[in-house]
Amino acid sequence: MNKNDLSIFEEIESSVRSYVRGFPTVFTKAKGYQMWDEAGKEYIDFFSGAGALNYGHNDPKMKQKLIEYLMSDGVTHSLDMATSAKRDFLKKFNDVILKPRNLNYKVMFPGPTGTNTVESALKLARKVTGRTDVISFTNGFHGMTIGSLSVTGNASKRAGAGIPLNHTVTMPYDNFVNDEMDTLDYLERFLEDNGSGVDTPAAMILETVQGEGGINAARFDWIKRVDEICKKYSILLIIDDVQAGVGRTGPFFSFEPAGIEPDIICLSKSIGGYGMPLALTLFKPELDIWNPGEHNGTFRGNNPAFITATESLSYWEDKSFEESINAKSEKITKFLQSIVDKYPELEGNVRGRGFMQGIECGVDGLASKVAEESFNRGLIMETSGVNDQVFKLFPPLIIDDAGLEKGFKIIEESVKSLIS
Ligand code: PMP
Repeated sequence: MNKNDLSIFEEIESSVRSYVRGFPTVFTKAKGYQMWDEAGKEYIDFFSGAGALNYGHNDPKMKQKLIEYLMSDGVTHSLDMATSAKRDFLKKFNDVILKPRNLNYKVMFPGPTGTNTVESALKLARKVTGRTDVISFTNGFHGMTIGSLSVTGNASKRAGAGIPLNHTVTMPYDNFVNDEMDTLDYLERFLEDNGSGVDTPAAMILETVQGEGGINAARFDWIKRVDEICKKYSILLIIDDVQAGVGRTGPFFSFEPAGIEPDIICLSKSIGGYGMPLALTLFKPELDIWNPGEHNGTFRGNNPAFITATESLSYWEDKSFEESINAKSEKITKFLQSIVDKYPELEGNVRGRGFMQGIECGVDGLASKVAEESFNRGLIMETSGVNDQVFKLFPPLIIDDAGLEKGFKIIEESVKSLIS
């Protein structure tokens, strides 16, 4: 077979495949912020497995722990039996993440992926309240199974279900472009109106920064008001931190600067640390109402993932990790602003926060071209938004300045080549 041969993907993989189209090569090796394909071409990774690799590829300490665990015949599968791997994770998660933030949550392992945690959150909110409807927001993305898709604000993704997805109400997300439009006043008015047929919903679900929907960052005071409205109407607030959490925007939980404590928190992607499948649903202790077995599944916490996840939490033992994310985030913002200023032909605007930023291009199709050209020049980068109008910088949090600069250079050269 020729190097980087993709013919088998064409031949037998379903046409639903997507990333193989955007990044048309065969990857064989990855380390830190770099990946290599079969022909030995090097790529800078500004994608991070869509947020599953916040600590980069093959972190040496996590790898060492994983090898030791496997070599000692550690348990790999155990349903939800108690294992030392799980116990160590729970203890460290409590000691390093929850306790220092004065957060009191029960932890559940809903299954291996992001959509599993969202499904469990929606189901729990309905069980607790006995209500059906869930309010979600335009451009939100929460997963591809029926429940999570039903709160996803993207018509083309929803179309994948082939049927109408019921029991949700989609509201406009924080409109940071037009300050005059107060979507929360509208929301309150709507909730007040229950005499005219509006049923109080069970929950509201939102991302603090919409990752798939166009890198839309809600303002912290807006998020705080959402929380207040939820409290006022006894609606449970679910924060989907699957993509924005685990340091992607700076703090471990993306909502920390808003000063809120959501009723339910969804975590996945980078919580496994090493790109290992793991998801967590955190909920307030008073919501722990399911009887044993009322929500179970075969892969409820993957033991090798607990090993890497436990090690990954060591990053959070030291305050300097968060500070380094914030310092590098500023560099990303500055770079993006310089591109927007220097190349007005992009009709660009900088969006997002932390390591979750991008440029929205006013010219149709241009963001995708920037991503494609960057890929040809050795940078892996995705687009975001319903019309792929944003190119999205998503490097691993551990990237150093040299790595950032290399990526910035490729992006600038790509932009230049496309508009000159
Ligand atoms: N929620 C958010 C915010 C996401 O970004 C994603 C995945 N992009 C999901 C849920 C679903 O996660 P998964 O693909 O692991 O099911």
